[in-house]
Amino acid sequence: MEEERKFISGIVPPNQLLAPACWFAFRENKLLVSQEPATATIPCLIDFSELGCTVLSQHYLGHLEHTHCYAVELAEGTSPPAGMSFEGLRQVYGRLDEDLFWVATRAVQIVDWGRTHLFCGRCGTPLRTKTTERAKECPICGQLHFPRLAPAIIVLVERCHELLLARSRHFLPSMYSVLAGFVEPGESLEEAVVREVKEEVGVDLKIIKYFGSQPWPFPHSLMIGFTATYAGGEIRLDDTEIEDAGWFTVNNLPAIPGKISIARKLIDWFVEKQRNSLIKDLP
Ligand SMILES: [Zn+2]
Repeated sequence: MEEERKFISGIVPPNQLLAPACWFAFRENKLLVSQEPATATIPCLIDFSELGCTVLSQHYLGHLEHTHCYAVELAEGTSPPAGMSFEGLRQVYGRLDEDLFWVATRAVQIVDWGRTHLFCGRCGTPLRTKTTERAKECPICGQLHFPRLAPAIIVLVERCHELLLARSRHFLPSMYSVLAGFVEPGESLEEAVVREVKEEVGVDLKIIKYFGSQPWPFPHSLMIGFTATYAGGEIRLDDTEIEDAGWFTVNNLPAIPGKISIARKLIDWFVEKQRNSLIKDLP
């Protein structure tokens, strides 16, 4: 799952903007986009204050190709300027340019961190934003506070021509997906894969392989994808988490997650692999 990203992260903003920058402005977790019938775009301006919105904080993010990018936190209750609207990131996926979308997923997390890390967790002193790295520092005790990131594994389990899909209680009706869960302190990613699958569906694994990763800003996860092969055990549900689970072939897939997610990339990878092996099996 190699993807070329054109975005270069940065901390130090330019002294002066000589060309329009992209402004990823959020009211709560909703992104300000200009409304087009089928697409969405990010406001591109030299001076964001032209839009007349009250800015609570601003963070330089880096540049996308040659365009500087900023994350902006807007006041609660900000009305969108004419021709623009506030939308959730999931709603703009597919309508916003893919590179801009992934910068927006950074921006929302930086804004959220800025908003929720105001005081030192150790001594309660108001924090100061560092200018040389993405961190805040306590001016009294020196404790550093970095953006929060929660690693979670996600794994596609295969058994010959079938894959294991499960339904969480929080999913949309009839939706199934591959299994996922947060990594515990002290655990390797592979250990987390084995534990999650055993806990949630009671199945043992072998041949665990890295697949790829994806930032998942809902609110601050990093999804680390794996594929694994079934090694034994009958499906036994952890019914506090999982409502249903089963083995599916590519010809009887249930409703699955949208293209935005690594879950879907894992499932698409399996479908593709099965189709290719069917073609090879043809006489
Ligand atoms: Zn402190």
